[in-house]
Amino acid sequence: MVNVLVINAGSSSVKYQLINMEDESVIAKGLVERIGMEGSALTHTPANGEKFKLEKPMNNHGEAIEEVIKALVDKDHGVIEDLSGIKAIGHRVLHGGERFTQPTIVDDEVLDGIRDYIELGPLHNPANIKGIETCMELMPGIPNVAVFDTAFHQTMPDYAYLYAIPYHVYEDHKVRKYGFHGTSHRYISQTVIETLGAENAKRIITCHLGNGSSIAAVENGKCVDTTMGLSPLEGLVMGTRSGDIDAAAVPYLMKKLGMDADETLNYLNKKSGVLGISGVSSDFRDLEAAAAEGNKMAQTALNMFNYRIRKYIGAYAAAMGGVDVIAFAGGIGENDMQVRKACMEGLEFLGVEIDDEKNAVRGKNAVISTDNSKVKVMVVPTNEEVMIARETAGLCL
Ligand code: AMP
Repeated sequence: MVNVLVINAGSSSVKYQLINMEDESVIAKGLVERIGMEGSALTHTPANGEKFKLEKPMNNHGEAIEEVIKALVDKDHGVIEDLSGIKAIGHRVLHGGERFTQPTIVDDEVLDGIRDYIELGPLHNPANIKGIETCMELMPGIPNVAVFDTAFHQTMPDYAYLYAIPYHVYEDHKVRKYGFHGTSHRYISQTVIETLGAENAKRIITCHLGNGSSIAAVENGKCVDTTMGLSPLEGLVMGTRSGDIDAAAVPYLMKKLGMDADETLNYLNKKSGVLGISGVSSDFRDLEAAAAEGNKMAQTALNMFNYRIRKYIGAYAAAMGGVDVIAFAGGIGENDMQVRKACMEGLEFLGVEIDDEKNAVRGKNAVISTDNSKVKVMVVPTNEEVMIARETAGLCL
């Protein structure tokens, strides 16, 4: 078997999947939570076996990944005999700046490069680096590949990625739109192209709607615009993030609410979005239940979420001179037929016609537009882990 281990290291968690590249099947997956906190635990799920849970103190990423390795090779619930069953390791890395436009085999110099972008990805890049360093230390000889969330968007033209502030700020400090969820947008658009053929999918709008949400405009397989910006705060209304907001509102908020810059950023990232508007929840199941019971602000939050998606779809259709396919993914995009229908309302002028019966689908690849619809609308469950594994295998195997 030719297996790739995919690692997604967060600040206090490590998610992993071991994927057999012969058929892209998941051999085992798992999660270490609460690293460095009380109650740290590993949950390991082999594809052909029982789920296994280990609760023990894990003080850092090193100790966590050590337990992951033990679980993978364990006599009872393991799935490989020893580390020779792992041919390469693919890591999700948030920010690759302008330097990393492709997945990259990691060496010390590349690690330094990823460190250079800590300022741009302060919440994620340090944890991603720890994940890579730990794997290099514990599994010497197995190549590590960094797959960047920003890389897919590096094909945007300058007029799309620049902010209209003095140009030297871009030159000196690299302040610009980067975009995120790139691995997901790449996977969704590739799947659409494989399903419909490149000729029928020249202009795709990919909608990744989850806790964090973003849309990308993909022309001939390449990203030409996306909603997230310098950070994942820009763009759509999200679970707890405001998305687009007048920059002048920021100092005004600081003054009125007596917050410093970090507190304000936290406010816009963690306390805003549909949670902030509704006061109910960031989870769409809760919001829809509340709206159905007559909670007006829950309904307003949903309306705002849907409206901004519709606006961006219109904008990206204009950017590409039309649209052939709109694809939905992410926890909301894959499961929530109400949101999908509501975002498509009013887009009939573009040639979008949703089939309500086909739209009643959850979590699987499907076309949800009518046979006559000029624009194909699809649900494409995203799979960032498989995409990372493919990129890793492409470089190492
Ligand atoms: P993600 O970040 O992609 O895992 O998406 C998580 C979000 O998906 C949750 O916060 C929910 O709002 C949403 N979600 C998951 N399942 C459903 C569902 N069955 N119906 C509506 N929304 C859902």
